[in-house]
Amino acid sequence: MDIVKNIHEVREKVGAARRQGKRIGFVPTMGYLHEGHLSLVRESAKSTQYQVMSIFVNRIQFNDPKDFASYPKDLERDFDLARSAGVDLMFVPDEGEMYRDNLTYVDVKTLTDNLCGAHRPGHFRGVFTVVSKLFNIVQPDISVFGQKDIQQVVSIQKMTRDLDFPIEIVIAPIIRENDGLAMSSRNKHLNSDQRNRALSINRSIRKAESMIMAGERRVPVIRAEIEKVLMEGSPESVDYISAVRFSDLSLCETIDGRSVIAVAAFFGSTRLIDNMIIDFANGGPRCVY
Ligand code: AMP
Repeated sequence: MDIVKNIHEVREKVGAARRQGKRIGFVPTMGYLHEGHLSLVRESAKSTQYQVMSIFVNRIQFNDPKDFASYPKDLERDFDLARSAGVDLMFVPDEGEMYRDNLTYVDVKTLTDNLCGAHRPGHFRGVFTVVSKLFNIVQPDISVFGQKDIQQVVSIQKMTRDLDFPIEIVIAPIIRENDGLAMSSRNKHLNSDQRNRALSINRSIRKAESMIMAGERRVPVIRAEIEKVLMEGSPESVDYISAVRFSDLSLCETIDGRSVIAVAAFFGSTRLIDNMIIDFANGGPRCVY
């Protein structure tokens, strides 16, 4: 695995791989890697022959400076994990390499109105800006993102179409711990009591699944049950429990087409998110979480 810090080195290495006829896959991350990140590389390797990963803790997407300052880091461990997952090129720029005298930002309207967009001002603008820059630096054929951050990936699909990036955006499944907690770099911050209580997020989503499979379609009814189960874990606060249409992430009152039910809540000072896609293809519903 090559580890590079400069944009021009990325371009050289990726250019060489492309001249050998390889298709390029790209997985952007903020590091402190876990199985969720590595699963994205494996997904990418199904249809590409050269795997690029970036690790960059992107200050401009943090609406909370304390969250940025405490974001977990362990680059040596990350390099070992990435190497074992088959990453060919690791890009670890510093802030000076990524942001010199930036005056340009990328935003995606309306798709960011609800869910995390409503609770983290400026967050998605920071994400879309860094992802656009990384797309232009790496110029991959495909880029894989996790369903875990559903609003992020749906908005990036739209951004990619709107800005004519010739890149296929792939959504990969949520990887969970054995007890159901969605893997996240921030889980490291949870003490054992908070981690135990946080299992109520996944339980609340599974409760919604059972209601939907039993025929319930009314969002206020489903939402009330999610809240009840979530509250069993006594979260410090709840940012949202929302149902949105998959296509445009607008709020819905009935689950009557491809939809997303998403939850965000704090356990201690750690903000956790989780979601489930409800699909009606092939006779559905089918709940994917
Ligand atoms: P992050 O390092 O948190 O910015 O995440 C980098 C990528 O990994 C994003 O596309 C996330 O959606 C994805 N990701 C994070 N956690 C998981 C998970 N538990 N399962 C699958 N993908 C994940």
